Amino acid sequence: MARIVMKFGGTSMAGSERIRRVANIVRRQQAAGHEVAVVVSAMAGETDRLVNFCREANPLYDPAEYDVVVASGEQVTSGLLALTLQALGCKARSWLGWQLPIHTDDAHAKARIGEIESEALLASMAAGEIAVIPGFQGVTDGGRVTTLGRGGSDTSAVAVAAAIGADRCDIYTDVDGVYTTDPRIVAKARKLKAVTYEEMLELASVGSKVLQTRSVSLAMKEGVRVQVLSSFIDDDATPADEIPGTMIVSDEELEGLDMERQLITGIAADKNEAKVILTRVPDRPGAVATIFGPLAAANINVDMIIQNVGRDKGETDVTFTVPSADLLRAQTLLEAQKEAIGYNRIITDGKVAKISVVGVGMKSHAGVAATMFRAMADRGINIQAISTSEIKVSVLIDEDETELAVRVLHSAYGLDADDAAA
Ligand code: ASP
Ligand code: MG
Repeated sequence: MARIVMKFGGTSMAGSERIRRVANIVRRQQAAGHEVAVVVSAMAGETDRLVNFCREANPLYDPAEYDVVVASGEQVTSGLLALTLQALGCKARSWLGWQLPIHTDDAHAKARIGEIESEALLASMAAGEIAVIPGFQGVTDGGRVTTLGRGGSDTSAVAVAAAIGADRCDIYTDVDGVYTTDPRIVAKARKLKAVTYEEMLELASVGSKVLQTRSVSLAMKEGVRVQVLSSFIDDDATPADEIPGTMIVSDEELEGLDMERQLITGIAADKNEAKVILTRVPDRPGAVATIFGPLAAANINVDMIIQNVGRDKGETDVTFTVPSADLLRAQTLLEAQKEAIGYNRIITDGKVAKISVVGVGMKSHAGVAATMFRAMADRGINIQAISTSEIKVSVLIDEDETELAVRVLHSAYGLDADDAAA
């Protein structure tokens, strides 16, 4: 017997028919002898609809009341799933965020989970009752309803799994796992048997949005084993123990799970970056601090940074990237600081993409970056900026070359499905 948390997203919960499918998947898991808690999202589109109502009611809405409104989508689906399970002859009950309770801080609309009380929950699960928990919501110490930020029910699921010491947290979603790259770009992309938390974080932060990033950090911190798998499985399919999704685990566990791992785990593309160049910045102590200080204060995340040397007269060009959505704000801020920084010109480019190769294997292997640069050079793709971490190399290129770059790298690292089978 294992203790399992199953999480279903909005697409899986959209309507009675789909909820019945979910209930069947849950029932089979319990019938396989497991203790089961289910965490659900609101029906697809519902949270957007509720957010709109808040905006219409009051454009300057009070976040505490916003939370009361938007948390309701998950209240509906958790009740409906409990009802549907009961209709199938299962014992089931819902546990709203304030009932368990799931304690959070009072940062409304983006609250963080503190403690989850699990005693009553565990007792009910041990008695054979399926626990249905709405994702996304919690309660402050003052008794007010909170929500965790969009996409937050992944984080709820992981937090519940940590609180009840679950053997696994299965996240059922629209895709059937984590792939070496976006299968819509590379038809030969392969589903990975396992990735490490760190790899998943890097992949998520560079654009493959399978899970909310916060849920992965939490899983890593709490050591929760997460599996990503498809909710589009047949009604008579085997329980999840035998369905191969992608496991997200620690480095140590990874070794045992996937023996045929390649040096590189995945390739991600992110078109939501924009490039900023400040020319002829004085090359003296404090110069970059005057550039990045104000951006940080405005909560603008700077990613890649290059400071070019080689200009004479003690000047340098500084290139960096910011999220596209923040480009205008960043530009305005920097223009206001022109005197203080002392640059000559500001040049921006929103048509760039960041391509990243990710893999824990590169911790112990040289030459990963060299392979990347060579492969791109051979196809005439120009690299505008580079950044690296222990398990990632990223380059900035022209957005129009995104698909080509991803395909070229996918073969360069031997990730194409045919190579791997050979
Ligand atoms: N329903 C919430 C949202 O749409 C939370 C979630 O589904 O993860 O953001
Ligand atoms: Mg989601």
